[in-house]
Amino acid sequence: GPVTVKELAGKMGREVSDIIKKLMTLGTMATINQEVDLDTAVILAGEYDITVEELPPEEDPTEIAEIEDDPASLVLRPPVVTVMGHVDHGKTSLLDAIRQTNVTAHEAGGITQHIGAYQVLCQGKKIVFLDTPGHEAFTSMRARGAQVTDIAILVVAADDGVMPQTVEAINHAKSAKVPIIVAINKMDRPGANPDRVKQQLAEQGLVPEDWGGDTIMVPVSAHQKTGLSDLLEMILLVAEMQEVKANPNRLAYGTIIEAELDKGRGPVATVLVQKGTLRIGDSIIAGTTYGKVRAMINDRGDKVKKAEPSTPVEVLGLNDVPMAGDVLAAVDEKIARSVAEKRVAKKRSEEMKESQKVSLDDLFKQIQEGAIKDLNIVVKADVQGSIEALKQALVSLRNKEVRVSIVHSGVGAINESDVMLASASNALIIGFNVRPDANARKAAETEKIDIRSYRVIYEAINDVEAAMTGMLAPEY
Ligand code: GDP
Repeated sequence: GPVTVKELAGKMGREVSDIIKKLMTLGTMATINQEVDLDTAVILAGEYDITVEELPPEEDPTEIAEIEDDPASLVLRPPVVTVMGHVDHGKTSLLDAIRQTNVTAHEAGGITQHIGAYQVLCQGKKIVFLDTPGHEAFTSMRARGAQVTDIAILVVAADDGVMPQTVEAINHAKSAKVPIIVAINKMDRPGANPDRVKQQLAEQGLVPEDWGGDTIMVPVSAHQKTGLSDLLEMILLVAEMQEVKANPNRLAYGTIIEAELDKGRGPVATVLVQKGTLRIGDSIIAGTTYGKVRAMINDRGDKVKKAEPSTPVEVLGLNDVPMAGDVLAAVDEKIARSVAEKRVAKKRSEEMKESQKVSLDDLFKQIQEGAIKDLNIVVKADVQGSIEALKQALVSLRNKEVRVSIVHSGVGAINESDVMLASASNALIIGFNVRPDANARKAAETEKIDIRSYRVIYEAINDVEAAMTGMLAPEY
């Protein structure tokens, strides 16, 4: 989030007045609650001999780049649209039809470049379509923290109506708070029944405008290319109402739409620029990769020197292939590499953590992080009666965040095979009046399996319950 002078002072361990004085010597008159941009923060850090590596993770330039721009700096930008809907309702056909009908005659003969997104013109205004249809792509990007879509086009086949994936798509768009425009497709089909579609959509909470609701629904046919310009006009209308805007005059900030390793060209990433302007020569970071923009190619296959907000471009010059959904930010050349390297290290340590198995000590944390939905347990005891008592009591501990399941139980000492099973199913082991044998102990150490031994049943139950609710007393 935004960093104010006050926060920066705290993070750098300096007095606010000290920071303000230093800013003055750098030619900036700042107040305590003023927000500081990345460049200034980096220069300040340099003044205090704090290297970027020493800055806490909140100083990540990507986050600083996310700072809201001054409303006065914002200008309209083309809306970015994702097409969603049930399989076979015509998402791909619609994307193709729109693309074909909106390239100029000069370009129509040429090859169309697939870069993951394309721009079309409607009444002299641009609209960007993301080329990968479906809510899965939309949501996997969102899961990575990237929201690039301004408007969702929900395609519903007029002869088939609302289907399960239609409802899914509606819910995905709603949870992302993205406005929906419905394209009732396949109007050319003999069985087309748009009123039935409208009725079904109304039942899902999308009430058509002509029925007094506020959802725009446009009848189209991807095959016959009818209704397409109506659809585009409606997209522009919604974009205007939503005030889809960005500041073009700042360092670029965008999202990786696609990326691959090209044999001849090296890492190639399609970036949708969302704020600012990306230029040849800019230093950039994207996820754990970094580099300098060597060349940019637009969706028509033309080389370009700059890309403004809502422009999709292929970018050459990254040192490695970033991931779809990664944020790309243009940054000060001095820090690009170190930030990327810091991120690689952080990712590695996160992966190490992920490979760690479930344990009672950090169970609550893992539940909170959503890393654990099933708490798997292996139960061993000296007699069958205790096993049954333990199993019942443990399973009844389930709550709404986590379900307890007993993946294995048996009479006898905890052996190596118990540990391997626990490792494969990410389980912890509870022993009642039994202990692990030597092999099991060794295996548990390498496999990082948590083994707990008890002599009183309710203590075992208490521990698991406490761990689930974050109340477990630390082991000393
Ligand atoms: P997607 O799975 O949603 O991407 O659907 P497709 O675009 O692959 O289309 C599924 C099928 O419906 C294909 O056989 C298309 O030719 C057909 N189709 C798509 N749009 C129309 C249309 O407007 N009219 C008719 N009659 N068929 C269509």
